[in-house]
Amino acid sequence: MIVRAGIFYDGTLAQPRKNVDIAVDGGLVREVRAADEGGSPDYSAACVTPGLVNAHAHLEMSGEPDLMTFYATTTQNERVLHAVENACKALRAGVTTIRDLGSSCGVSPSVRDAVDAGRIPGPRMRAVASPIVMTGGHGWPIAREVDSPDDARRAVREQMKIGADAIKLMATGGVMTKGAVPGNAQLTFEELEAAIAEAHRHGLRCASHAIGTQGIKNALRAGIDSIEHGHMVDDEGIALFKERGAYLVPTLAAPTCIVAHIEGGGQPQYVVDKARYVNEAMLRNVKRAYDAGVKIAGGSDAGTPFNYHDAYASEVELMHTLLGMSAQEALVAATSTAAELIGLHRGVLAPGEVADMLLLKRDVGSDVRALRDVEKVFKGGACV
Ligand SMILES: [Zn+2]
Repeated sequence: MIVRAGIFYDGTLAQPRKNVDIAVDGGLVREVRAADEGGSPDYSAACVTPGLVNAHAHLEMSGEPDLMTFYATTTQNERVLHAVENACKALRAGVTTIRDLGSSCGVSPSVRDAVDAGRIPGPRMRAVASPIVMTGGHGWPIAREVDSPDDARRAVREQMKIGADAIKLMATGGVMTKGAVPGNAQLTFEELEAAIAEAHRHGLRCASHAIGTQGIKNALRAGIDSIEHGHMVDDEGIALFKERGAYLVPTLAAPTCIVAHIEGGGQPQYVVDKARYVNEAMLRNVKRAYDAGVKIAGGSDAGTPFNYHDAYASEVELMHTLLGMSAQEALVAATSTAAELIGLHRGVLAPGEVADMLLLKRDVGSDVRALRDVEKVFKGGACV
């Protein structure tokens, strides 16, 4: 199969190429060559990019305004159906790889297995089962609660047993859980360290939800692979990111979507109040981290209020508008950098790489909003 591109972005910061053919065979890219070098195309598009990679999503959540109520009023079976529907929505909107960072009752590893087996459509997946939290900590309604380093180690083993291939740890409070304070540290350094060491011993990467300043540093010192949110990071935290080579997944869409729906959105007042505060911290600090050279990987926290699985393009737009990335840099954060963090493939279009790609109606480099309206999505060389 040959896809002809008017302009071609390979997922790196390399100069985009004009008028190329991408030859695909057996689900992989075989060659990228000038368009006049033979073969007529099966598909053509103004612009071709790698498939998007969303490093932070929750497939069983669909943007409900009040997650405490959502979990109290839905059954596990209903949430499985949400996850299946959202996997399909994400894929059709151009997300060909996704990392589910927490679900109830092992939903997301089951969805991953069904996608891998070809039973349902969806992105390639990494899946956390339950997040690991302190008793009563952020996300407790769907979490494994732990209260010592030994217990944290055991919780990691339990998650692996039910099929998790990534681990999520709550280092601070958060917005959506009643009573959890985003600025406060939750799991201790010792608990984080024990869990991370155990996960790493088995080859699993660890992500930490961390909004508050101290919790971010606790997780970085304990050896975390990525900080999710990171909105109250200070200079010492930024230095730790760089020293440890950890990724920041800023989930800019999460507070942005909540704050955009304050009026009449049906959100609890505590969510709105916390999101306002966190949003202000995010606007102050994440750009500082990016400017200082912290590695930013794309992830939207899709599933949180009004933050939909088919709207990952808006996270890419926010990295452009709020962080000052060029359109191509934002695309790189949402493809190869996020892929590097997830570890399933490289997120680039080059010979030997998975043929996950998007056909766009116009050049994403001159207008990042081109990702809003994807013409065709290919996963493993198949048009989905
Ligand atoms: Zn999340």
